[in-house]
Amino acid sequence: MLQQRTLKTITRAVGVGLHSGQRVELTLRPAQPDTGIVFRRVDLAQPVDIPISATAVTDTRMASTIGTGNAKVHTVEHLMSACAGLGIDNLYVDITAEEVPILDGSSASFVFLLQSAGIELQNAPRRFIRVTRPVEVRQGEGPATKWARLAPYHGYKLSFEIDFDHPAVDSTGQRVEFDLGSGNYSRDIARARTFGFTRDVEMMRSSGLALGGGLDNAIVMDDYKVLNSEGLRYDDEFVKHKILDAMGDLYLIGKPLLAAYSAFRSGHAMNNLLLRELLAQHDAWEEVTFEDERQAPSGFLQPLRAW
Ligand SMILES: [Zn+2]
Repeated sequence: MLQQRTLKTITRAVGVGLHSGQRVELTLRPAQPDTGIVFRRVDLAQPVDIPISATAVTDTRMASTIGTGNAKVHTVEHLMSACAGLGIDNLYVDITAEEVPILDGSSASFVFLLQSAGIELQNAPRRFIRVTRPVEVRQGEGPATKWARLAPYHGYKLSFEIDFDHPAVDSTGQRVEFDLGSGNYSRDIARARTFGFTRDVEMMRSSGLALGGGLDNAIVMDDYKVLNSEGLRYDDEFVKHKILDAMGDLYLIGKPLLAAYSAFRSGHAMNNLLLRELLAQHDAWEEVTFEDERQAPSGFLQPLRAW
């Protein structure tokens, strides 16, 4: 049986929110089979649980926010990406503010935290959402076109293409394909940092965003070049970060997908729209488990190797 996974032990991180600039403590705790991933706002007078789901996403401007009632958690996508990459099914995420810490701007720190805590196999089958026919969302015309698509695939792979019309971005790889079955999430995707342009920062700050952002947790560019003195971590770090984000956004559906995702200029909003479209089309997916591990896609059996 292909088993569900949680953590072996509790682990903690402290950092600041990218947009809020607030100090925040994060405690990741093991959870029982079929719990899913549940954020818990432990700073509120009455702690509030926010289980992840496609419809728990309440805001997708700049980051993916989940919420229930007045309780929210912003910028969940990098932690969710690490959980998708390592195949964590069940987890409590206790958080002391309304935004997940940005740490180094990638998911590498979350991967390190999760792997340090250790991954525990549980006595329950992993439940996958298998896409059985293509589902697509599309917006805009001509140069403003963007789209995202899920199609049947025995495994999980993602391909993403960007088009930013910026010299520093355009000189890097614009398209990347990544197959989770390769076992190389930590090495090839997790280290890709979020990025931003100085021309947007002032506007974002006046809207109360990017208050915790800087050169130690983002790639920052002026109109011509990357300003970080150490340069890029990958030749195609920008598009790899879009893959990292998409993996996090899509994991909010609450179960691992068996599908091929492809996208052109998609983002948090469109990724969530794609999940809602998939769920609305009941004949486009089914829930599956693998009692016989040999039927599972290759690369899904072993917990992911380290770097
Ligand atoms: Zn991101």
